Amino acid sequence: MLSSTTTKGLLLIGDGMGDRAVPALGGKTPLEAANTPIMDRCAAEGESGHMDPIAPGIRAGSDTAHLAMLGYDPYQVYPGRGPFECFGIGMEVQPGDLAFRFNFATVDENFTVLDRRAGRITKGTDRLAAAIDGMQVQDVLILAKESVAHRGGMVMRGPGLHTKISEADPHAEGLKVLEVQALSPEAEKTALVCNEVIRRSYDILNDHPINRERVAQSLPPANILLPRGAGFAPNLGLFSDRYGITGACIVEVGLVKGIGRYIGMDVIDVIGSTANVETDTVAIGNAVIEALGRHPFVLCNVKGPDVAGHDCNPQGKIRIIEKIDAMLGQILDGVENLTVAVTGDHCTPVTFGDHTGEPVPILFHGPTVRPDGVQSFGERAATLGSVHRIQGKDVMNIMTSYMGTAEKFGA
Ligand SMILES: [Zn+2]
Repeated sequence: MLSSTTTKGLLLIGDGMGDRAVPALGGKTPLEAANTPIMDRCAAEGESGHMDPIAPGIRAGSDTAHLAMLGYDPYQVYPGRGPFECFGIGMEVQPGDLAFRFNFATVDENFTVLDRRAGRITKGTDRLAAAIDGMQVQDVLILAKESVAHRGGMVMRGPGLHTKISEADPHAEGLKVLEVQALSPEAEKTALVCNEVIRRSYDILNDHPINRERVAQSLPPANILLPRGAGFAPNLGLFSDRYGITGACIVEVGLVKGIGRYIGMDVIDVIGSTANVETDTVAIGNAVIEALGRHPFVLCNVKGPDVAGHDCNPQGKIRIIEKIDAMLGQILDGVENLTVAVTGDHCTPVTFGDHTGEPVPILFHGPTVRPDGVQSFGERAATLGSVHRIQGKDVMNIMTSYMGTAEKFGA
């Protein structure tokens, strides 16, 4: 229940912000090397520690880490990448839908695969997917939408579907598309529907104007759809039911946008948000301030630190962390009575170029947060904080307790 003793809440995620000691930075991490007066002040006035997104040593993806931080157990609700691929590209997935990823591929008239990625096609896949979207096979509705390059998402909606089917993609060129097989008796209908979609996709796509144009330019036609990664969309319920407050999502990761939309959060797109180190953090900050005027809670993710981590670019990572710090100052100036948590969703060390399993520093700041004496925000400083070492699933509990919106457990 909301009362006058509650605060607003912001969970601010620098994607992949955690790091390791970097020799080129004199042994500091990018967060330690960056000039972050606002985060340091928040750490000094608040409390800090380390957070394992999923569990110690587990290398989290952004999707599983955000699920955990929103209070879901990814081991229970993460059905594989199919449904999350579909969320991420904005498909209207419903609980119980069977969702797939797919590739557009090139086959000859005998269904021999000539190119598994259709020449990494970049243009026209929206029209090709639209030609498949809405197909009906028996009582099953097929939805399809393009993703990046030759990839896409496909949803099967109807009764009697199952995940236990074999793959269609032979995973090598020169081999025939494989007949999808049921790997358990309940999956026979799904295998049949899958094979029908694949056959009909060839009939529809091979003669499509986009492909006639490609053939005229000596490019491989994207003339078949090869689905994989089947998983049922999980029943996550609504964010507002879980926490008793509404929330908005201002995030730069498509997958996380998809999760937010799926749990009924207000997903807000920001002009100037580029999901890299050049992103317009002032515009994002303004959007957060505006969203906190309408919702008690906002999840904000800035993607740049992860991009710099994957690019092994310490200076880029420092620059985007400093921009996030300035953005936090802008938000604190613009919103009264706010509880903030600042952290990353995982480490993406610039010395490694991918996600690793170390914990990420986290700080809590707000009118009700107990200060712990730590004076700055960073990997070393956080080891001395009173939060000690928590897991992603603890974050919203701590947030909503400080916000004054958490339900009591027991009498
Ligand atoms: Zn990443």
